[in-house]
Amino acid sequence: MSALSLTGGVSGATQIYIIALGSNQPRSRTRPPTRLVEEAIEALSIAPFRLLARSPIIETPPLGPSKRRYANAAIMVETAQFLPDTLLRHLKAMERAAGRRPGLRWSSRPLDLDIIAWGGGRWISPGLTVPHKEWSKRIFVLEPVCAIAPRWKDPKSGKSVRQMLATLKKPRKMRKGC
Ligand code: ATP
Ligand code: MG
Ligand code: MG
Repeated sequence: MSALSLTGGVSGATQIYIIALGSNQPRSRTRPPTRLVEEAIEALSIAPFRLLARSPIIETPPLGPSKRRYANAAIMVETAQFLPDTLLRHLKAMERAAGRRPGLRWSSRPLDLDIIAWGGGRWISPGLTVPHKEWSKRIFVLEPVCAIAPRWKDPKSGKSVRQMLATLKKPRKMRKGC
């Protein structure tokens, strides 16, 4: 294995992942972002996956003249089939199947599937860093993750998801928890 698995992870053993799902581009009138996220959750609930927990879908309605709706969610799954690098390949194939075309990072997309965290701890390989580099800075990631795994700890900082979310929200609302 060319990857650097900093804290373990045994091939063949059951792996637990937190995956963030996002969409901000409908595929059709009947497949808006919320539907696309639901479809992806369904696909990640069947073999070789088992769905352990799912958050509600957080929907941000269009602001001003924009028609763009955002849908975000997080799930916890287990699988004995994928280590982080092969899971990423699988998720990228799902994104393409949902109509995502290669483009600029952060551009509109029907589906974005990011590996947020892994039960094995930290993983670094070309093109993949787990936990996701930006997760502690994103409310739209931490909020749904907090709904399913508030006590999950960042392996680097040791902070829990609930603590990270509280820190992010503090300057704006002085609110604690999720
Ligand atoms: P961001 O990663 O900032 O949320 P994005 O999801 O819009 O941006 P993508 O175009 O989906 O960006 O992915 C860009 C690259 O990020 C991917 O090709 C992948 O190799 C890399 N990447 C690194 N770490 C991760 C991770 N933990 N989960 C998913 N992709 C990752
Ligand atoms: Mg992303
Ligand atoms: Mg992505």
